[in-house]
Amino acid sequence: LEAKEEFSHKTLAMDVMRPRRNDPSLTVLTQDSMTVGDIEAAITETTYSGFPVVVSRESQRLVGFVQRRDLIISIESARKKQDGIVSASWIYFSEHTPPQPSTSPPSLKLRSIMDLSPFTITDQTPMEIVVDIFRKLGLRQCLVTHNGRLLGIITKKDVLKHIAQMANQDPDSILFN
Ligand code: ADP
Repeated sequence: LEAKEEFSHKTLAMDVMRPRRNDPSLTVLTQDSMTVGDIEAAITETTYSGFPVVVSRESQRLVGFVQRRDLIISIESARKKQDGIVSASWIYFSEHTPPQPSTSPPSLKLRSIMDLSPFTITDQTPMEIVVDIFRKLGLRQCLVTHNGRLLGIITKKDVLKHIAQMANQDPDSILFN
């Protein structure tokens, strides 16, 4: 049994993160190219607790993370209380908002509800380290990157499922596959 470390197959963050290989891609928000309507659609079409915010879909550079409930509350409240907020209003998570033509509806700034430094690991991080980080920091989720590009997400529940799976595995397969 001392050889366990040597034989054990190391599970990496990329093996546990979502989306899995054939899953639809991660649902992300862009920092300055989505409207109130676009973001409401993302909220209605998914049940995720939160969404990574990226610079653009092409770059997949992470800028932050927003909780679903904060988005819902802020958009609902803006639609009620802020003059002129409609489905076509742009939402900005960016620091600066580009000048708007006077004909377009007012935009909604939501940078203040974004976590600007969500916890991030690379896809090659061993899961035993990820489990340790979740325990020690009490994380709810962690984002996974590769060369600075956002690849996926691991939630606390994903980690708990992974731990349960490891515990249920046939000891031989843990040791030798
Ligand atoms: P939980 O894991 O507690 O159910 P969520 O509802 O946020 O939390 O996530 C459900 C599943 O979807 C998890 O496996 C998670 O990794 C994944 N997930 C979470 N957020 C996103 C997202 N924005 N896009 C794609 N998948 C996500």
